[in-house]
Amino acid sequence: MIYLDYAANHPVDPAVLSRFCAVEMDYPGNPNSSHLAGQAARELLAETTEHIASLLGAKPTEVLYTSGATEANNLALKGIARANRHLGKHILSTQLEHASVGGSLTALQQQGYEIDLLDIRRDGTIDTDQLRELLRPDTILLAVTAVDSELGTIQPLEEIREILKDYPNCRLHVDATQAVGRIPITFQGFDTMSLAFHKIGGLNGSGLLLKRQQLVIEPLFHGGSSDSIYRSGTPTLALAAAADTALTLAIEYRDERTAVVRDMRTQLETVLSAFPKVRINSPVGGVPHILNLSIQGVKGTQFQKALSERGVCVSVKSACSSDGLPSKAVFAVSRERKNSLSSWRISLSWRTTQEDITGFLQAFDACYQELA
Ligand code: PLP
Repeated sequence: MIYLDYAANHPVDPAVLSRFCAVEMDYPGNPNSSHLAGQAARELLAETTEHIASLLGAKPTEVLYTSGATEANNLALKGIARANRHLGKHILSTQLEHASVGGSLTALQQQGYEIDLLDIRRDGTIDTDQLRELLRPDTILLAVTAVDSELGTIQPLEEIREILKDYPNCRLHVDATQAVGRIPITFQGFDTMSLAFHKIGGLNGSGLLLKRQQLVIEPLFHGGSSDSIYRSGTPTLALAAAADTALTLAIEYRDERTAVVRDMRTQLETVLSAFPKVRINSPVGGVPHILNLSIQGVKGTQFQKALSERGVCVSVKSACSSDGLPSKAVFAVSRERKNSLSSWRISLSWRTTQEDITGFLQAFDACYQELA
């Protein structure tokens, strides 16, 4: 099998798994218990949280452990909207967001919130002129992805932050799930930021919401404040420790891993662009690990199936929205429905090998000859 779907899920790093097992075995106590075992667990949790916070430029009290980015996005969006409804019910977001943001916004819309989605420019970035036009005194939230999972566009977060300075009631939520470990990003100037560790060699079922200390949000879960009043449930110490290891490695080796991925991406893009019916959809300047392309006249699902039959795993849209509808993100940059229906995504890792690339290109050539 040739796995090229690392933006959907990245295999766990052996060091992360070892850390998980060691902590799970060595710390039997519940961090909320007052006895010796509880105290030991509490101390390790505090140390771990402090380290994670320092890696992300946050305070330990700003770290909320979640089951992944879907929960973190739901908690941020619903939590901010509900806690600020006295200030307004207008929310802004974009066409590029992950289904967990889109789904939260739909739920909020059904509860009477007004949602506007910003257009995407041809280079994949959000239309910041339109952002200026749509912001209102009753806009309480802008939810934007730092890097979208389909095209890999890096959004102009600095510019967005500057624009929001004139709107003190508008909170900024950043989905950093595809950005952490790929580009330099810290929790500076945002109100909330979500991420998931299974994208960077951490364990599935583990993520974070960073929440600015003074910001009050409404929790999703009620009962038992445990680690924080904003996220009930016994904190899973071993998952937190594993997350710390994954994040430490992702940040420490980010530059060298990115260089490896960039070389493979360049190689792929050069070879694929020579096929007359190939169109590269990912904008120039995006993250190197995501490459979105279309084969004119061939549905993305059809090409993906043909590759899968040859042992190659790529994805059509993101793994969480395989509904057969055209990709909104690709439509936004190409303005062509057919092109968006033909699109699919390769996503790479520092673990991708030259054999993977060669094998993929052979399979691609065979599928192209058969279908295009
Ligand atoms: N946000 C983005 C940008 C993603 O790419 C994903 C996963 O694909 C998520 C959120 C959801 O993450 P999780 O699988 O941890 O719920």
